[in-house]
Amino acid sequence: MKNHLHHIIKSSISATSSKIGSCSRNTRTLSAVRWNSTNVATVDDEGLVVQSFRSKSHIPIFNLCLGGNEPRLIAAATKQLNTLPFYHSFWNRTTKPSLDLARELLGMFTSNEMAKVFFTNSGSDANDTQVKLVWYYNNALGRPNKKKIIARTKSYHGSTLISASLSGLPALHQHFDLPTPFVLHTDCPHYWRYHLPGETEEEFSTRLATNLENLILKEGPETIAAFIAEPVMGAGGVILPPKTYFEKIQAVVKKYDILFIADEVICGFGRLGTMFGCDKYDIKPDLVTIAKALSSAYMPIGAVLVSPKVADVIYSQSNKLGTFSHGFTYSGHPVACAVALETLKIYQDRNILDQVNRISPTFQDGVKAFSSSPIVGEIRGTGLISGTEFTDNKSPHELFPPEWKIGAYFGAQCEKHGMLVRVAGDSIMMSPPFIMTSNEVDELVSKYGKALKDTERKVE
Ligand code: PLP
Repeated sequence: MKNHLHHIIKSSISATSSKIGSCSRNTRTLSAVRWNSTNVATVDDEGLVVQSFRSKSHIPIFNLCLGGNEPRLIAAATKQLNTLPFYHSFWNRTTKPSLDLARELLGMFTSNEMAKVFFTNSGSDANDTQVKLVWYYNNALGRPNKKKIIARTKSYHGSTLISASLSGLPALHQHFDLPTPFVLHTDCPHYWRYHLPGETEEEFSTRLATNLENLILKEGPETIAAFIAEPVMGAGGVILPPKTYFEKIQAVVKKYDILFIADEVICGFGRLGTMFGCDKYDIKPDLVTIAKALSSAYMPIGAVLVSPKVADVIYSQSNKLGTFSHGFTYSGHPVACAVALETLKIYQDRNILDQVNRISPTFQDGVKAFSSSPIVGEIRGTGLISGTEFTDNKSPHELFPPEWKIGAYFGAQCEKHGMLVRVAGDSIMMSPPFIMTSNEVDELVSKYGKALKDTERKVE
């Protein structure tokens, strides 16, 4: 079992950061790398991460928002483990941490009223839950054909059968017989890459909203149940909505009585400088998915927030049927909920939004100052999320030969300088912890700049 696990970890690590192909002088595998305690983590001889993350260096998976050494979270988990390590949330039972957390979340989400919370173990099972809720809702309303879900190309919603289907990334579909037939994909709202010559951002948004409407009409509005979107697309390359995009998309969705699911797994709890991405872009969702920053990654937990419009229908239907048959053994796990509650308290105590908004201009401006690099096509971002796309001649259409692996090379140079970035083809993404000091942001920007220079030299 251990060997098997080892193999999985090594292969997922080497997929992002090992061999660089013909564009590389120094090929190496991650198992040879040591990060010391002042950097990211300690790796043992087998390449396994063995020691807690001590610093506030960049963590490439959008989650460890309070850094790797937060004593209050460790204390919250320990206290809960000593009090009530587990009780389930089936059959009208729940635990105090889960009830308190649900109340807290309902109070925090303000862009649209939310009535109920369903806890999950991750973002993926939360998005699967969303689809089941939407179907249950339409069945209860006597609309058995209103079942299709529209997502967007390049979106990421998770890895389970349904959440991977919703995701708009080919690698998640190919060889898995996905997406499932009830999932449709509409345009990715990436203005820089997809706008027509002379088209403004507003015109681009209008065109995408029209395309969405045409898709709905072609399929039949009576068959479309929900639309799902990340406020800012994360894993697809940090893609910000163009001006007026969500206003126009929401108008179309509303017109055809289609539910709006906001996937806030990355954007939620401050990453964009607002508590939720919905606040930033004036999105009024019917359902919301959260995870990651909810516990700052210290415990696995996700959740679905359900608006009264949907909750009331589900509630009366399940009362008629006598039960609502959906749940996981660890839904609302008391230890995960206690840690999440403490995480939210820390965000409050430390005025996390002020903190994010204090450091994010240095982060964004610092990184975007490298936009003129000849190998950079676009640097984009907001708050504490940033994406860089490497292209030739600053053009979205002139890609570097894939075998050069420019993104991976840049990632390896960052690692050499003591920083991890997330690599996806010739795009890289950064999502530093919320608690960075200004000096640490300067350090991040400086490491980014050094890695970029190294990569420029390689391409020349
Ligand atoms: N939704 C979004 C927007 C995500 O970024 C992710 C994970 O990165 C997920 C859902 C899936 O979450 P998890 O990996 O916790 O299943």
